[in-house]
Amino acid sequence: MNKFIFVSGGVCSSLGKGVAASSIGALLEGRGLNVRMVKCDPYINVDAGTMSPYQHGEVYVTDDGAETDLDLGNYARFTRGRLTEANSVTTGQVYEAVIRKEREGRFLGRCVQVIPHITDEIKSRILAVAKEDPDTDVVIVEIGGTVGDIESIPFLEAARQMIHECGRADAISVHLTLIPEVAGGELKTKPTQHSVKAMQEMGIQPDVLICRSPVMLDEATRRKIALFTNVDPDAVFTSYNIDTTIYEIPIVFFDQKLDQVVLRKMGVESRHADIRPWYAMMERFAARKGKVRIGIVGKYMELHDAYKSVYEALFHAGLECAVEVELVKIDSSRLEEAENVDTILGRSATGSLSSIDGVLVPGGFGQRGINGMVKAAAWARTNKVPYFGICLGMQIMVIDWGRNVLGWNDADSTEFNQDSKHPVVSLLEDQVDVKNYGGTMRLGASQSVAEPGTHILAAYGEKNIKERHRHRYEFSNQYRKEMIESGLKIAAFTPDNSLVECIEWPDHPWGLGVQFHPEFKSKPTAAAPLFREFIAAAKAAQSSESKQ
Ligand code: GLN
Repeated sequence: MNKFIFVSGGVCSSLGKGVAASSIGALLEGRGLNVRMVKCDPYINVDAGTMSPYQHGEVYVTDDGAETDLDLGNYARFTRGRLTEANSVTTGQVYEAVIRKEREGRFLGRCVQVIPHITDEIKSRILAVAKEDPDTDVVIVEIGGTVGDIESIPFLEAARQMIHECGRADAISVHLTLIPEVAGGELKTKPTQHSVKAMQEMGIQPDVLICRSPVMLDEATRRKIALFTNVDPDAVFTSYNIDTTIYEIPIVFFDQKLDQVVLRKMGVESRHADIRPWYAMMERFAARKGKVRIGIVGKYMELHDAYKSVYEALFHAGLECAVEVELVKIDSSRLEEAENVDTILGRSATGSLSSIDGVLVPGGFGQRGINGMVKAAAWARTNKVPYFGICLGMQIMVIDWGRNVLGWNDADSTEFNQDSKHPVVSLLEDQVDVKNYGGTMRLGASQSVAEPGTHILAAYGEKNIKERHRHRYEFSNQYRKEMIESGLKIAAFTPDNSLVECIEWPDHPWGLGVQFHPEFKSKPTAAAPLFREFIAAAKAAQSSESKQ
């Protein structure tokens, strides 16, 4: 069985289309279906890898090393289906492929056009995901952007053709819109009516509407929307504002029977629904007691999406450690300028607002704010505050150790200072001559082996670890001996021992850095082990301090 659900959005962006699509996926999985998710991105970049986090939020990395849109991270957190390069389709990829075929003469002299050539390429990519696994039941295709955007037109046109070719039962349209509230608390349906008209002009009649609204829409409003849009009244749903967590959305939809309506539209017999894992997760959410404050020291602090998977993984870890994780976002440039780091990070009195129970330095690129991160690492190391360094955050630990323990004042990464006499982090030979920025880093899943007696081994409970990478620079092996002799613990290597994958501070409750990105595999129902142990350490440090 191959069914397709096209999820589009109208009125404005940031309505939570990715979460809505993922929640539908989660509910269909709860009904025993095999679901695969696809994101269509209208931008002309070939992938998200070359875009600034300020432009686009985080780059989500798959096992096979694709640098994709952060919505794939949502899919990974809500659903189980495999995600690879194939699940992310961009305008850039589509045009690149079509132009390559044209240059190879594969269009036999025909004029190459958006319809049918670009739309055929889009359709063939969606169909390829459907065919990849013989047991795939449903492919949910999220179309980026908002209906009416110039860039989304070829994707919506491809969706229209597929709905027409497959027949309505095998391909349906789910459209997400906004019901704004105007002064006086009145809810307005007009933008939704216009948005559905824009879909109809594209030749697509939505089968299901999901309306973002501050509150649950009443029956009369849903009937009014249905009347104006040709959508069945029982297929108009509300995604109302919730003050718990986005992971409650599958339950919000389930309670309105959204999954039943979707299955009915696709002609699939309604099976027994099991959404117990989502209820269990909400129970854990409600059972959290107390709070740990985690200082995130990075450079893209204004934009929540820039470290999306890291923040989500911290939240998941809080669920498992039964504690709320409060994110304290600290711009590393502020630390760089600060005379006394304690005024920003300091633990003045337990529980006071300036106290921080753990420091996390996430991944990043470029020189700005680096010295602030080094200060944060030195502070956590000397004050014995739990520290978690991810990718750049591990490289920062190495720089701090070089500068402040070994006394090499100019210790640095060659990413930031090519003239350092102590390049403690540097490029691998095979990266030195790389000129192209797109897709040329060390990317995707690879194996690390944890050493005995380390925190990383305790966290995973298994010495063979497989996590995803996205970086160019590495711990410099020329300093391995001096680092180890001065006490730094090398806690994991690549299987051939050639690259350092994890380091830990000695005589410290929990100070650990990894060269890979464990945040990408964390789920609300199963937190990534290192995040779980980091939050457990922060919680333990807090309670031991309050006993003093
Ligand atoms: N800029 C560093 C490198 O390329 C770290 C990358 C990262 O944190 N993802 O190695």
